[in-house]
Amino acid sequence: MVVDVIVVGGGPAGLSAALILGRSRRNVLLCDDRQQRNSASPEIHGLLGSNARSPAQFLQNAREEVAGHETVLLRRTRVTKIDPSDGAFKFACADGTTGIAAKVLLATGLIDELPELAGIEALYGISVHHCLYCDGYEYTGKRVVAYGKGDKGADLAVMIKHWVKDVVCCSDGTEVSEQAVTRLRQHEITLRKERIQSLEGPGGALARIHFESGSGLACSGLFFSTGCRQASDLSTHLGCKRDEKGGIITDPATEETSVPGVYVAGDASRDVLLVAVAVGEGAKGAVAINKAFLRRDGLCD
Ligand SMILES: Cc1cc2nc3c(=O)[nH]c(=O)nc-3n(C[C@H](O)[C@H](O)[C@H](O)COP(=O)(O)OP(=O)(O)OC[C@H]3O[C@@H](n4cnc5c(N)ncnc54)[C@H](O)[C@@H]3O)c2cc1C
Repeated sequence: MVVDVIVVGGGPAGLSAALILGRSRRNVLLCDDRQQRNSASPEIHGLLGSNARSPAQFLQNAREEVAGHETVLLRRTRVTKIDPSDGAFKFACADGTTGIAAKVLLATGLIDELPELAGIEALYGISVHHCLYCDGYEYTGKRVVAYGKGDKGADLAVMIKHWVKDVVCCSDGTEVSEQAVTRLRQHEITLRKERIQSLEGPGGALARIHFESGSGLACSGLFFSTGCRQASDLSTHLGCKRDEKGGIITDPATEETSVPGVYVAGDASRDVLLVAVAVGEGAKGAVAINKAFLRRDGLCD
């Protein structure tokens, strides 16, 4: 198969790029293995005109919209390899598809590292979160826990205070510096240093934290600050430069990486991690790719 662009990843960034490329009459193969980052969440918040739609519904509508363009092919598969080849890129997928693409757009996203807490899986995305911009607003008037080891939980707790008045900091059996304790006191935030035994709540709604000490804490939500990593190593294999956070470095005007012809959109660059930004970066990368083709064909400067 020979295409103008292979888009790797079919979250908001990849689908947005495929939409604009399809509307630019470019031949596109979009491959996605459907592990979108927010799939555990029931609602997307903060997306203009689409607030509170479920991620599954959003993606289903987006796929249908993109698939309506005759030059775009969507495949549910993982891209396993991309190699530079004679000014283009050879690719291979887990379902056996192989081919050549003139340009590559990586929209492969990130994977979150969840805290190791018993009971977290059933609550994650519903009442246990990592992003205040996504979910902080919903907790006005409720009690929220800021979870993080060492000073991380304390830093998060102080920030949450802007969104929610009733915040408790849990350091899960780890020590917190004197400086952080002072800051917590200044902001009237309670610190619980006991090790957490489990999280509990019906139907995904956190209701109580149980400590190993035997005591408990009633609360409605928990925000954590751990880390995340790239969901794909294709950019490493291609030699794209990364920043100190592990984000793939891109040109802010074009989304092109340090490897000419390879573009990145969405969370993989670790800029602002929101659906709206992923959609925007996908569109921006697609326009830059189309302009590069127009220049190649002598149709623009
Ligand atoms: C629990 C949770 C809740 C969130 N809530 C919100 C919210 O309310 N509002 C908001 O704006 N943002 C929210 N976010 C952030 C939002 O999910 C991301 O910013 C957004 O999904 C980024 O889009 P993306 O297209 O870059 O990546 P993703 O949506 O993660 O999509 C990447 C896709 O690429 C695929 N992929 C990766 N490697 C390969 C490969 N080699 N081959 C084929 N496919 C591949 C993955 O399987 C995945 O389907 C939330 C995040 C989480 C974790």
